[in-house]
Formats: sequence, structure tokens, C-alpha cells
Amino acid sequence: MDDILLMLPGPTTVDPRVLQAMAKDVVNHRGDEFGEIYTETTKLMSKTFQTKNDSYIITGSGTAAMEAAIANTIPRGEKVLNAVGGKFGERLADITKVHGMESKVLDVEWGTAVTADKIEEALEADEDIKAVTVIHNETSTGVAQPIEEIGKVMKNYDALFIVDTVSSLCGDAVDVDKYGIDVCFTGSQKCIAAPPGLSAITLSDDAWAAAEKIDAPTYYLNMLKYRDNGNKTPAQTPYTPSVSLIYAMKKALEIVQEEGLDARVARHHNAAAATRAAVKALGLELFPDEDVSSATVTAVKMPEGITDSQLRGTMLDKYGVQLAGGQDHLKGNIIRIGHMGVISYKELAITFTALGLTLKGLGCDVDPGAGVAALANFY
Ligand SMILES: *Cc1c(COP(=O)(O)O)cnc(C)c1O
Repeated sequence: MDDILLMLPGPTTVDPRVLQAMAKDVVNHRGDEFGEIYTETTKLMSKTFQTKNDSYIITGSGTAAMEAAIANTIPRGEKVLNAVGGKFGERLADITKVHGMESKVLDVEWGTAVTADKIEEALEADEDIKAVTVIHNETSTGVAQPIEEIGKVMKNYDALFIVDTVSSLCGDAVDVDKYGIDVCFTGSQKCIAAPPGLSAITLSDDAWAAAEKIDAPTYYLNMLKYRDNGNKTPAQTPYTPSVSLIYAMKKALEIVQEEGLDARVARHHNAAAATRAAVKALGLELFPDEDVSSATVTAVKMPEGITDSQLRGTMLDKYGVQLAGGQDHLKGNIIRIGHMGVISYKELAITFTALGLTLKGLGCDVDPGAGVAALANFY
């Protein structure tokens, strides 16, 4: 199973320098050495979120940060507007309910984006809404939501703006302070390209003020404890963190800075545009409208007469390229090509060569080289 090219929307290929960083000795997580590493990592994280506020690393995948975001900042019984257009939007709505808040779902059709106007309408209609949750990049449908525009609307309301950037941070533009995001979180294994197992979160002054008033129904994910421990000398986490994964995260964030955040985002947008062009050149259809298409994962309709196991199975077994399938009602109906992290011409050329040959092999009337040829316009 070695040498599989991961074209998934997470986990993504991890740079050897990041893997190597994990091979260092495990140190005391309450000592000076780790305190310094943790502080540097959280500073890099804030730089990446583009916020003046502190960030915290949670040992737990992105879903842990989703739960921390909700549980710490909204009082039980209060109303939350959850924008839902896919699996991760649903997950945040579920977490809202699990923690005893009232989830008001703003449903959009899977494959389309929520608009700032719709959010504004919902806020106008109900002044009891205490928070709005939006998935920046809905990984299950390959849709990017307009968080900058939504942020402009949110500035006119008291409700907290909670944004999931798990599959967008470092792959699409996220400027926490400029967009007025109150709670922002991400995961390690998507565009940051570190191994899975960590998440990161940052809170605005308003979000902290809310957190201070709440007896949060969570123990492990209590953000006030994260803040208290982060302020200690040396800086710490409340409970034993994954020391080795934090070494990896630090290295991965340093690599992001080395490339430059803007350059990295531009590289992802270029990879997304190249992917869409190659998909169309192979006669396939994009699932979402191109104007709301994600910069980090492209969802493609399953071609007529071909099954998911035929297509993704051949891609994996014959060509060693791992693509993602659809989730829930999209299972079997779409494939998803992740282009996150360390993705450039080389990975896309392999993917589209394999996809062209796979389609041809499955009997499609297609020029198998058309996809890879289309990439040339982007590199
Ligand atoms: C991957 C992902 C998550 C978190 O999933 P984990 O499996 O817990 O890391 C959350 N939101 C989005 C949009 C994601 O893509």
C-alpha cells in the first residue's frame, strides 16, 4: 500500500521535514522547552489565522474544535443559526443540539453556497439569535461560502460569528480579524498538511466575554482552562497534549510561512482552476457551480453508467491514486478530488493521467490525455 498518492480532502501528504520533526525526543509538557515550542506554535497559528488574538492547540481532530467553539461561547437554551449545505454544516448543527442550544437551521441545497443576504434575512427575522455558524469550505460538496461578505453583515448584529476553516485555512483566504470572525478553528491534516490529530482555535474579545459568563458543558474542551494554562510560564495546555504532533504542527506552520500564506492560497486557487479545467476536458461535470467552487477540493458528478467502486477502485488499485467519494445522499453520485497542502503540477498530472486512462478503460468515449493536456494552461 505504499506510494499511494493521497488526493483526498484530508489527510494530505505530509512533508518529510514535518515527519522528521516528530522524531525528536518527547519532553515534559510542563517544562520550559515545551513551553517555548507551544508558544511558538500558537503564535504561528495566530499569524496564520491573521488575528491579533491568541490561539490554542487542542489534541483532537477538527471535530474537537467544532465542539469547543460551540460549547464555550453560547449559553444553553439560546438560539444558534446554523448554515447547513453539507455534512460538516450538519455536524455543527448536531453539536449545537447536543450541547443544549436551539439550532435554527438555514438550509441551502447541497452543492450551493449560503449567501450573506440569507444570513441577514435570518438575523433580521429573529433577534434572539446569539451566534451564526458557517462552514467556510464545505468539504462534502466542494463549495466555498462567502465568509468575508457574511462577516460584513455580521458586524451589524451582536450575534457571534463562528467559522469552521478546517479545510480552508492555508488553502483559501481567511483573515479572522478583517472578516470579524469571533470564533475560528481549523484542523492539522487538511491544508496545513500536518498529520491528523490536532486542531486549533482562536476567540475574539466578544467570544471570551461570552465564554466567561458560561458554565460550559464540557470539561476537556473548556477554553477558559486553555487560556489560563496558556498564560502560565512556561505556557502549557490544561491536559497532556500530543507533544510529538505539536512538533509536527510547528514545522508545518513554518513551511507555510516559508512559502508565504498568500502564495500558498494562490497556489491552491490555481490547482483548483486547473482541476476544474481538466475535469471538463475529460467530459465530466462539476458538482457545484463554478463560481462557488472550493479552492481546496473539487466535487465532480459521477459519469453516467459508471459506479463509484469502478471509478475510484480503478484509480486506487491500478494507478495508486486515492480519491474521495460522496457522503450521505451524494454517495455514489460524486467523486471528490482533494488538492490541499503540497499539491502542484506533478500530483495533478498523475491524477488526471490516471483518471483519463480509468475512464477510457471503463468504456467512456474520451481522449484519455485531454485532462492532463488542460493542466498546461495553468502551469
Ligand atoms: C475535516 C473537516 C472537519 C473535521 O473533521 P475531523 O475528521 O474531526 O478532523 C471539520 N470541518 C470540515 C469542513 C472538515 O473538512
